Amino acid sequence: MTIAAKLTSILIANRGEIACRVIRTAKRLGLRTIAVYSDADAEALFVQMADEAYRIGPAPARESYLDAAKILAVAKEAGAACIHPGYGFLSENAEFADACAAAGIVFVGPPASAIRAMGLKDAAKALVEKASVPVVPGYHGAEQDADFLATEAERIGYPVLIKAVAGGGGKGMKKVDKAADFGDALTSAQREAQNAFGDARVLVEKYVLSPRHVEIQIFGDSHGNVVHLYERDCSLQRRHQKVIEEAPAPGMSADVRSAMGRAATEAAKAVGYVGAGTVEFIADGRDGLRADRFYFMEMNTRLQVEHPVTEAITGLDLVELQLKVAAGEPLGFTQEDVTATGHAVEARLYAEDPEKGFLPSTGKLWALSFPHGEGIRIDTGVEAGDTVTPFYDPMIAKVIAHGATRDEALDRLGVALGEAIVAGPRTNLAFLKKLTEAEGFRKGPFDTGFIDRNISALGAEPQPLDAAAVAAAALQLEEERQEAGMIAAAGRAEGETRSPWLDPDAFSLMPRQPLGLPLLVDGERVEAQIEWHGDDARVSLPGHEIGEGEHEVALAEGEGGTWFALHRGRQTAVALFDPFTVDLDATSGSGGVVKAPMHGKLVAVFVAPGEAVTKGQRLAIVEAMKMEHVLTAPRDGTVSEVAGEPGMQVAEGAKVVVLGE
Ligand code: ADP
Ligand code: ADP
Ligand code: MG
Repeated sequence: MTIAAKLTSILIANRGEIACRVIRTAKRLGLRTIAVYSDADAEALFVQMADEAYRIGPAPARESYLDAAKILAVAKEAGAACIHPGYGFLSENAEFADACAAAGIVFVGPPASAIRAMGLKDAAKALVEKASVPVVPGYHGAEQDADFLATEAERIGYPVLIKAVAGGGGKGMKKVDKAADFGDALTSAQREAQNAFGDARVLVEKYVLSPRHVEIQIFGDSHGNVVHLYERDCSLQRRHQKVIEEAPAPGMSADVRSAMGRAATEAAKAVGYVGAGTVEFIADGRDGLRADRFYFMEMNTRLQVEHPVTEAITGLDLVELQLKVAAGEPLGFTQEDVTATGHAVEARLYAEDPEKGFLPSTGKLWALSFPHGEGIRIDTGVEAGDTVTPFYDPMIAKVIAHGATRDEALDRLGVALGEAIVAGPRTNLAFLKKLTEAEGFRKGPFDTGFIDRNISALGAEPQPLDAAAVAAAALQLEEERQEAGMIAAAGRAEGETRSPWLDPDAFSLMPRQPLGLPLLVDGERVEAQIEWHGDDARVSLPGHEIGEGEHEVALAEGEGGTWFALHRGRQTAVALFDPFTVDLDATSGSGGVVKAPMHGKLVAVFVAPGEAVTKGQRLAIVEAMKMEHVLTAPRDGTVSEVAGEPGMQVAEGAKVVVLGE
């Protein structure tokens, strides 16, 4: 019996790239596809791709993608046979899985009991420990008293890691190096955990040295079979979040793989697992991967963001397997049948600004295109013209490369990232490309601290002006100005008024003098010089060398006369400087004003007017996108103003604290 005969239709309770990903396979298998969307996603790609789409509420996830009752009501109305939850949102929500079952709808995921058993990290650790799976030493009991936990940290031995028991996505997690920092870290972890998961409880565990994140993809069916589909190495991380993932893990031996595979399948069997799941291990990588040096961290009871690298090397479609298992069929293969070919790497392309502490970035995607080279797969949920909103995870796409060897896969990934075009929001393209080229990552060994240790070499700090990019945009703007000048000259003949910017003399005078072209480059005023040689214009930027680059600059037009110059993955926004509309004070961050880095909520203020502070001191915390952003003093000084109080919403760029001398 085919899957489509059993599961005739599927509702995807998710959005973005994963909704598109699920729809693709479901359609290929002949299922009727049903999307649900919030107001922010009414025009989204996944809505267009689905056979049917239903509005479920306003933009905030709580009122739409997390509204289980609403989604179930739509599923019943649309006659959905099953619901795929994707990742995030309701994917690891046991009550939702139960509610689906109660409504007679198949939940494409593990039994609710398995989600529950693995849902809290403390309980999961206790459970797998009984199944002889090695766990990280630590305290994962119920006691939450701060002094008690500090004593436990002492016993475990620093460095330790504080983790939210309900955690996910690296939130509510703090590494603590010494006893003096424990109290602050605990408060911050608890607050993040409460905000993100509605559960402030934490556990404390030993911080494993030279840590490598190696996880095993497992699959179970309802006939008692459990297999693993090799491992993924996700050690390239920032703030405990994955940046680049690969399969197989570099340096993995057959022995270690079979030991890890066995531990993972044992953990899965211990909870009667059915469907796709991932068992995450942290390995002490000081002497390479060893069978006696890896420890269970958690089990993710869902499809993982990085599942495409496993699909690339195994040739399996994991969503198809999920549906097959959900339809009650056996997996149809054994452990021995699973083979791997070549090497695959995935990079998560995000709307964020590595040069500004990876601050999420939003806005319209003025241009978006990806290459389709050999071995390249792009999973995305947006297209040019769409907007990255502050409501959801700002991932733009996953770029996946497969090659015969690790080097070939990384080369292909690097080329694809170099050829990708994203204009509008800031992105981590240049950062990802540098990662694919980083010698330490190429050669290994590397651990989860690699990115932090190399942050500067990876370009994730304020960079000097990209002169080649500015020059290319300046030329474009000058050409536009010339054209407009000609039109204005023609217009004037018909009696129109003359704009001071559109001076036709600039191109009619012979010989032509170098022209000053005032620009606004990423909000800063820059003066360019244009020199005409016949029909050729040459741009110079006083104080900057414009290198003859072998890398081309791509230009994409934004709004209001702004051009985005894309150069080696980096974006520079260039417009003509107009003294009448730009408030330079607002764009150039004057010394003593500490502003909110993005739209969010002020959750804590640590200082009061009159208080003396030192450079780097914590002033306030803004919570945005469920992460805490600490605002620190840019210099020594005295607080002259505190512009808000905890609980208040703050806009991006809003003044929070002002420092006097
Ligand atoms: P892990 O780090 O455990 O592998 P992932 O990296 O797969 O988890 O994702 C991090 C967390 O953020 C997960 O809980 C995931 O479900 C959630 N998440 C990531 N991207 C999105 C998204 N686009 N929409 C909703 N949730 C997301
Ligand atoms: P989440 O639910 O947020 O994914 P995890 O427990 O999976 O939380 O941990 C996220 C990341 O934090 C891991 O991928 C790893 O890099 C790091 N980490 C977790 N536990 C440890 C540990 N005990 N020692 C060192 N690093 C750790
Ligand atoms: Mg994890």
